[in-house]
Parts: sequence; C-alpha cells; structure tokens
Amino acid sequence: MLLTISTTHQPATDLGYLLFKHPDKCQAFDLAFGTARVFYPEASDTRCTAALVLDINPVDLARGKAGANRQTLAAYVSDRPYAASSFLSVAISQVFRTAMTGRCEQRQDLADTPIPLVAKIPVLPSRGREGFLRGLFEPLGYQVNVRRLALDDAFPDWGNSAYFDVELSHSIRLSDLLSHLHVMIPVLDDDKHYYVNEDEIEKLLRHGEGWLSTHPLKEEITSRYLKRQRGLTRDALAQIAAEEVIAETSDRETSEDIIEKPISLNQQRLETVVSTLKANGVQKIVDLGCGEGKLLKLLLKEPTFLEILGMDVTYRSLEIAQERVLEKLPTHQKGRLQLIQGSLNYRDARIAGYDAATVIEVIEHMELDRLKAFERVLFEFAKPKMAIVTTPNVEYNVKFENLPIGKLRHPDHRFEWTRAKFQTWAQGISDRSKYSVEFGSIGNIDPEVGAPTQMAIFTIAN
Ligand code: SAH
Repeated sequence: MLLTISTTHQPATDLGYLLFKHPDKCQAFDLAFGTARVFYPEASDTRCTAALVLDINPVDLARGKAGANRQTLAAYVSDRPYAASSFLSVAISQVFRTAMTGRCEQRQDLADTPIPLVAKIPVLPSRGREGFLRGLFEPLGYQVNVRRLALDDAFPDWGNSAYFDVELSHSIRLSDLLSHLHVMIPVLDDDKHYYVNEDEIEKLLRHGEGWLSTHPLKEEITSRYLKRQRGLTRDALAQIAAEEVIAETSDRETSEDIIEKPISLNQQRLETVVSTLKANGVQKIVDLGCGEGKLLKLLLKEPTFLEILGMDVTYRSLEIAQERVLEKLPTHQKGRLQLIQGSLNYRDARIAGYDAATVIEVIEHMELDRLKAFERVLFEFAKPKMAIVTTPNVEYNVKFENLPIGKLRHPDHRFEWTRAKFQTWAQGISDRSKYSVEFGSIGNIDPEVGAPTQMAIFTIAN
C-alpha cells in the first residue's frame, strides 16, 4: 500500500521538516497491523517526494491478528495489503501525527502556508464510482486525476476493477491535505478494520474541522466514516451543524445575546448559578456544555471553588474558552481549571464524582430524543451531588420586542419549553432517580408568563 506526497515549493526538501521525517533517512514504524516505512524517492531543492509504504501481512490478518477477517479463503486473498484502506488512514495519523496538527517549530510559517502538493494513491477503492471520488475531493479545491484500473492487465476482457489510480493536486497546507486523506480514505473503504463507536465522532469532528460542515457531501462522508451507523451519524451531523452555527456567531454577539440583552439576562443567570453553588458549599464543579467559558470565568473568581472542569462538544468553543479564560489565569491558578471535549450523549467517567454539575442553556441544543441519553449520562453515571439545569421559558418570548412571534431565541435551539413542560420533564427525572428537584426562575418574573429563564436544581441525599 503506497501513498506519495510531492511538492515543488522551494526549497522542496523542507517537506522533511513539515513531515518530521528526514529526507536522507528511511524510517520504519511498527504498527498493530504491519510495518509502515517512510522514505524519499526524490529529494532535491526543486522537487521532493515522500513515500509512505505500508506492509500488511495477509496471513497474519487471516489468522486473527489485528483486523482479521475470518471468512474462509477470502481472508487470504483480500485486497487489504494492496489497496488504500482504513489501515492506511490509521498509518497516516500515527506516522504523521505531529504534521497533521499543523505544528512545526522549525518551519511554522511554511506549515501555515498553502504550498503546491500532489498526493498519489495508486490503488484507491471506490466501487467503480469515479463521480463519487471526484465529489469528495473537488469541492475541497483539488484537481483530481483518476485512472480506472483493469481487473487484470493480462486479460482486458475481464473489464475494470473497483479501484482507481488517483492523483490529487492542490495548493494547500500539508496538515489539511493529511486530514483530508485521513478522513476520505476510510470513507471510500467499505471494509474498515476497526470498531466504530462514539470516539470516531470525536475524530471525525477534529479532522473535519473547518471543511466538513460546508462540504456538499457531508452527510455521506459522515455516514460512511461511521460505518453507516445511524445513531452515530445523526449525532455527528447534529454536532457539525452546531459547530457551524457557533463558527458563524462566535466572534459577535449571538442573536440570543442581542434578544436577551435589554434585561442583561445572561449576567443574571450566571450570578444566580454562582450564588446557588456557593450557598450549597460546593467545591468541585463540572460545567457541562461550558461553551466559551462565561460561567467558568465567574466560578474562578470564587476561591471556594477548588476544582473546575469545563466540558463541551464543540472544539471551537473550547478553543475560545482556552484563550479567553484558561490562558488568562495567573500560573498558580491554572491548576484549578481543566477543559475537555466530550458529549453529553455518552457516558463519560471524566465527569463523574463532582459536587455539582451545571448545565446552563444546553438542553435546548439537544434533539428531544437525545434527552433520555443525557438523563442517564448525568443522573445515573456522572451522579453529581447537585445539578443545576437552566433553559429558556418559551412563554416569556412574547415579551422580547425584537423576537418575532413564534421564533426561538437562537438558530441552534431544537426546542424551547413552557414552565409546565420543563417541570414535568425534571419531575420525571426525580421520580426515576434518587434526586429531588426544586424549581427557580431567573430574571424578572412576569405575573402571566413567568421569568425568561427557568431553572431546576437537583440534589441527591448522600
Ligand atoms: N453554558 C454556556 C453555553 C451555552 S450554549 C453558557 O451558558 O454560556 C450551548 C452549549 O452546549 C454549546 O457550547 C454547545 O456546543 C454545547 N452542547 C450542545 N450539545 C451538547 C452535547 N450533546 N454535549 C456537550 N455539549 C453540548
């Protein structure tokens, strides 16, 4: 299995810096399923090519080592050792791990610059669909040259195989090229060797950052990357959609901020949460769906909160939280705050064992049919001693002069609830668990429609 990457950007041998592999050396890497080798068939100032060759032993595969396909004789004559497959994708991410992050101390400017790159993959499966292959890469700006491979050159009558000899050319950052290959190769491989679970969503979002949400085939890419598992695909697409809304709004005020601003609701909400936590003598807090870290910032001002963890599903938000909150802390304070990426749809040991969990204006961003999973994740597995959940009170929306009737407060909200609906939901959780629940409101209380934000405070008796 072979992949070559060439550049004519001069001095071309700087490709070695970007890949963290010296052009004069041939290096071997032992992977779980075979050996990867990197060497440079050409390395001059004007043109440089790096080759990644992956050797997989088909007999090991057939006999039950990593990636084994136990189906009789077929296992011994599979395409795995020869075609670009999920194995190659994993090899790219392991052998070129640092290059994929876009970091390069010795040539950072070059890593940040689009340079002319050509990737060649001599045997790429695409079930004979040239259009699909082009549809994956052309929207990303690649010039795609493909040649359909014959089943057997010696027997032209047998016709074509499902494989293509592919050349992708583009002026692009090397890290972007590697991310595109890392995602697209398994998308084209219907026979992925690894088990696909929610961790793969995280990888897809990480490697797809900045391009997947606007790719015309994002649904198909996501579904195939996740081995067509419908639940995972739906969660991933929901997260991609949320990322897009956040990317569009992160540097300006969101529509929700603008709508709620006249009553400085956000400030009131955060202050109410902080004072509730203080009144309960809480020390360790996890802020779930922490977003850009507005609550984290306030929490850090209170010395009684010793340990604070922020979790969000969206990378971009976490990056902003990192810049605006974590990096601004004095060194001796940094240990109090940790940020992690994670989803509230999946059980996660890292969020277990806290005195309190805050879930501020988050549930309305989830699909209704995911709330059950969220309930279990928070109240069955994470089990904080107390949990504060806030969400808009939709009845109050008529009071916002700048919000058209019937519209929700934010484009990513999947629902907004009445007080009755929210209380029924929260009471249901209490009935099904050891938590008791009390309700509060945030913002001015209107005699008819109530307060703009509603809050449930769950507490567990030791
Ligand atoms: N709590 C913050 C942010 C609210 S916006 C504040 O009050 O300012 C909602 C946040 O929930 C977003 O950052 C979004 O990425 C996050 N979110 C939505 N669904 C999530 C999920 N399933 N798991 C974790 N975070 C999620």
